[in-house]
Order: sequence, then structure tokens, then C-alpha cells
Amino acid sequence: MEEKYCQSCGMPMGNLKDMYGKNKDESISEDYCKYCYDKGEFLAEVNMNQMINICIPHMLDANKNMSEEEARNIMNEFMPTLKRWK
Ligand SMILES: [Zn+2]
Repeated sequence: MEEKYCQSCGMPMGNLKDMYGKNKDESISEDYCKYCYDKGEFLAEVNMNQMINICIPHMLDANKNMSEEEARNIMNEFMPTLKRWK
């Protein structure tokens, strides 16, 4: 199965439906996680740099050997590939 990432924050969402956000009509959003998106709207009106700053502490938590600079470099490459920031 192809790994699915939230197209706003880049979080891997896997196949668990409860990780996905909802559209206005309560259907499941295929693109965004529940932390970013609910009822057809983004929960946080942030720009890409702000989103990167929000994500870095989570990345460092998940990757104990990663430095903040490494995390930022990865995010700077990865974020612009996501639908919300294209
Ligand atoms: Zn998200």
C-alpha cells in the first residue's frame, strides 16, 4: 500500500480512516489529516513556514537522532511538494 501523507502538514496517515479530516458534507477528506482539516476548512490559517515550525518539534520527537537543522532541511524540501503549498 502506498503511504499517504497529509497534504498540509506532511504527517503519514496510513490507512486509518480516523486520521483523516472531513469535508463539509462529513465525507472523508483523502488529502488532509484531522489535525489540519475539518468540515471542509483548514483549522489553522498558517503559511508554509509557520507549518514547518509547527512540525519540527514533532519530527524531533519521532526521530531522536535528528537535529533541528536536519529536520528543517527535510521540511523545506518536502513541504512545497504538498498540495496545500504548491
Ligand atoms: Zn495535517
